This record gives sequence, C-alpha cells and structure tokens, in this order.
Amino acid sequence: MNNILLKIRSFFYLLPNIVEVLFSKPETIDYPAVSNKLSASYRGSIRIISENCVGCGLCVRDCPAQALALEKESKHSFRLIHYRDHCASCGQCEMSCKFNSIYLDNSYKEASADRKDFFKVLVDNTNKK
Ligand code: SF4
Ligand code: SF4
Repeated sequence: MNNILLKIRSFFYLLPNIVEVLFSKPETIDYPAVSNKLSASYRGSIRIISENCVGCGLCVRDCPAQALALEKESKHSFRLIHYRDHCASCGQCEMSCKFNSIYLDNSYKEASADRKDFFKVLVDNTNKK
C-alpha cells in the first residue's frame, strides 16, 4: 500500500474520534478564572490557626518536602513560612502539630504563574516581642 493510501486510511480510521472531540464539551476548565469543584475529602491547601501556633517547629522538622520554615528570633518571636511550590499536600504537618494549628482543607485556589505567590507567611509574631 502506498503512502497516500495509508494516510487516507488513517484519516478515516480517526474520523469518528475527530468528530466526537469537535462536538463534545471541553474536559478542562478555565481555572482559576472558573471555580474548580473539588471533592469534600480533597486536602490541598495549608491553613493555619495562628493563635494556636507556639513556634515549636515540629511541622517544619517533619515536613518531608522542606516546604515549611521557622525563622525564630526568640521564644515568642517567630515567623512560620510555607513554600507552596515545594508542598506535596501530604498532611504530615497536620499530623505532627500538637496544637491544632496547621491543617489542610479542600479550598485549593492557589494557581499562579508567579512563583512569588507560593511564598506565604503563615504566622508572624515578630512584632509581638
Ligand atoms: S502538607 Fe506535607 S509537604 Fe506540605 S507543608 Fe505539610 S508536611 Fe510539608
Ligand atoms: S504549626 Fe504547630 S507544629 Fe508548626 S510550629 Fe506551629 S504549633 Fe508547632
């Protein structure tokens, strides 16, 4: 079979798929412009109850992705920082925290084209010296 016949055969073989794709709804959404409906059990975003955080650093110690950092100036003066672009959303920090301060929920809305947006100060007690 020559090359042209092969191409024609391939075209007609793929035609039903091409027609289906052209007339079906898109599988993707225009996220984040369009809100994404996540399952209730999805855990993707780090949340913090800053009043509960004592700066013990257990979450930082146990994070397997080094996505958390604690900048400590004194016992009660510290900053807890989250690097979203490192985070694997594994939930280890939530399990390690003894003070119910850090947890994950399903409100993932953190898409960005700018890497700076993935740097987040979760707790800042440095002005409370
Ligand atoms: S969810 Fe996992 S990877 Fe993300 S900050 Fe917590 S421990 Fe680190
Ligand atoms: S979030 Fe919890 S584990 Fe992490 S520093 Fe604060 S109190 Fe400690």
